Amino acid sequence: MPETISKTALIVPLIQSTVGEMRSAMCKADEAGADMVECRLDYLSQPPDEAALQALLSERSLPVIITCRPKRQGGQFAGDESDRLEILAMAARLGADYIDVELDVPPARRPKGRTIISHHDFTGRPADLEKIVAELNASEAAVCKIAFAADGPEDALAALEILRKSSKPTIALAMGEAGLVSRILAGKFGAFGMFASSHEGSESAPGQLTVEQMKRLYRWDSVGPATGVYGVIGCPVAHSVSPAIHNAAFAETDIDAVYVPLLIQPGEGNFNRFMDAVAPWADLRGLSVTIPHKENAIARVGAEKIDELSRRIGAINTIAIAPDGSLSGTNTDYAAAIDALCAAMEIKREGLSGRKVAVVGAGGVARAIVAALAHYHADVTIYNRTFSRAEKLADEFGGKARPLDEVATLSSEIVINCTSIGMHPDVDDTPLPADVLSRAKVVFDTIYNPPRTRLLRESSNAGCVCISGLDMFVNQAAAQFEFWTGESAPRELMHQVVLEHLNMPR
Ligand code: NAP
Repeated sequence: MPETISKTALIVPLIQSTVGEMRSAMCKADEAGADMVECRLDYLSQPPDEAALQALLSERSLPVIITCRPKRQGGQFAGDESDRLEILAMAARLGADYIDVELDVPPARRPKGRTIISHHDFTGRPADLEKIVAELNASEAAVCKIAFAADGPEDALAALEILRKSSKPTIALAMGEAGLVSRILAGKFGAFGMFASSHEGSESAPGQLTVEQMKRLYRWDSVGPATGVYGVIGCPVAHSVSPAIHNAAFAETDIDAVYVPLLIQPGEGNFNRFMDAVAPWADLRGLSVTIPHKENAIARVGAEKIDELSRRIGAINTIAIAPDGSLSGTNTDYAAAIDALCAAMEIKREGLSGRKVAVVGAGGVARAIVAALAHYHADVTIYNRTFSRAEKLADEFGGKARPLDEVATLSSEIVINCTSIGMHPDVDDTPLPADVLSRAKVVFDTIYNPPRTRLLRESSNAGCVCISGLDMFVNQAAAQFEFWTGESAPRELMHQVVLEHLNMPR
């Protein structure tokens, strides 16, 4: 009999179609670092008899939960309810560590044994959630389990609050990408367990991460009650490199913190709904803010709580949350870009004064960079496909505006690409003709994927000093880390993490 678990168990669901495959998957889950497995008998091609169950449970290396989920609760079992309950009763008699029985099974019909009593809602957070949780707590369950589909991260917070208040060992999770934080933080709030698949493609529910992601990316083994929580708010956030960068930085600097993705649909209402749901017990200490919430973030934090240049840019990408819940914010993009530029040119920010700079593009990144260049009195010309956007930016911060097709005539010492031209996958595109580059001394491409764009390759051939968007990207992440923690960021490591994420050689 495997040893009992005292910490939050990482549970791998086994969804194979034969008992033999399930047994070998159990060995692989053990090797991957699982603490427990859940045998989903409803995935078996044949309902198991006693011999099959015995084969599954004998000489097991990990504690086993036996589940046979009916269709009405999101499972695969389509047979007779009495047969289903008899399979669970048999598993209990044969020594399964836990059997999972749904709350909607009348108490008199529930098989006896060490039970996880569960409730699932794949449509959303149940309106009568409190009542369901009260019923689970009042039941004979050894462990209560509730899982519901998440619409936003506030649903994940609701799941975590159930854990916090529960009087019994509990599993509470919000399913789907928006609910990820309920999975990552289960250990912080003392959950009985959390599910993780052994590899991609073997998930038993939406939003389930792999054991590898839980352990390596989200610091599963380090997360505890005192762990501080940071995250990135945006839509989309699934492919953000920020969790990898910041979690690696927290691990390197021994800071008890974890960084999570927070998917929030567009709209100020959705942003505010999440911010309203954040309670002090969640220990949320800092947020990265990305598209489309940078303007919503400034409105929420309040102009008086951010620095002057960020205020003028009208968007912030970083929020710090003090222990009393008060917010402060900044835009680390402009400083990241200006500092990458100045470091490569070996000048101080004041050294930008009077220098001729061509900014190609007039979107969000261009806005932050133009504001900062104007602040340091550079002589800026903005080239953009939509000329009116270039004009608007030039009017607001000072500078000249030109249509993009005049870019061939530019004669600036510094050229900064703020368009997405040349970005992965269109890596053969470039915003500037190669012959223009011989007139520039410094070329900065804000694109970081790929780190060396066609524009930078041609600029290097023309003898220019070249700056990659990767430097800006690492600078902005490092500045966020320092804004939140007051400690110096491990930049070299952060750089390496981004390259690994982009699958690039060092
Ligand atoms: P944005 O607000 O959508 O602006 C995009 C800009 O690119 C606009 O000026 C747009 O011109 C122009 N553009 C796009 N496709 C074009 C095309 N085919 N031909 C001509 N112009 C085109 O985006 P953003 O947030 O400013 O981001 C811009 C780039 O910055 C991104 O692609 C990304 O690579 C880079 N970036 C880097 C970092 C970093 O840390 N290094 C961070 C964020 C973004 P119109 O106004 O005419 O549409």
